[in-house]
Amino acid sequence: MAAGTYRARVIVLRKTRLGESDLILTMLSEDGSQIRAVAKGARKPSSQFASRLELYAVAEVLLASGRSLDIVKEARLVRGFKRIRSSMERAAGASGMAELLDRVTQLGLENEKLFALTESAFEHLDGAEIKAVPALTAAHILKAMAFSGFRPSLATCVCCGKDVDLAQAGSTIFVSYAEGGSICAACAPSNETIRLQSEVCAWANVFLVSTFDRIEAFDVDLSTSFSVLQFCQSWVREHVGANLKSLQFFFTSGLFE
Ligand SMILES: [Zn+2]
Repeated sequence: MAAGTYRARVIVLRKTRLGESDLILTMLSEDGSQIRAVAKGARKPSSQFASRLELYAVAEVLLASGRSLDIVKEARLVRGFKRIRSSMERAAGASGMAELLDRVTQLGLENEKLFALTESAFEHLDGAEIKAVPALTAAHILKAMAFSGFRPSLATCVCCGKDVDLAQAGSTIFVSYAEGGSICAACAPSNETIRLQSEVCAWANVFLVSTFDRIEAFDVDLSTSFSVLQFCQSWVREHVGANLKSLQFFFTSGLFE
């Protein structure tokens, strides 16, 4: 390897046009840090990068360190996840996950669980039935937030630590996004809270601790998955300061109806 170059295994999160034919790629590196690099000529149909650095793909890249942005010198496709890009619903899910990662990852900041989490989430998106997409998306966002230091406390009160009963169907739970999750009835009067259906909190809690295989098998109904996604949207807005446009698209596109 020439001086100033390095290899990385990456997942492509975002592509931004640069000039006539180049792209700036935002990528999640295997150590969980973010890499931004220019792929020169990547928008020309003849470019080797066009098929090797597809959105959401896993690739091995050789990069040259640059003053502001690094430069992609070589790329090898490892996993393409073709079905994600050929289905609007699957792509919407991947786009929500990628937009979150774009916001919570940083250059040089390691977060080791994020890569394996995201590769597994994309693998499941690629293979799952369409109706599982909202649940898989919500689960990835909750887990990625937890790995980034923003895990909601749902089964215990964030003020006093007492158990909060999420199992009573049809009841509501006091929640404060700012305080970090559920609040018991005794602590609720001294906090600013909203009320959420207990099923929504219960499923968000299940998504946090379950594998994607299990989440797919649970076959959660769509309206519940969408409510958990709404929870994710508010949770990310409160703790990351981002209003995820890709999730907004879920709610307004009518894709899953
Ligand atoms: Zn309490």
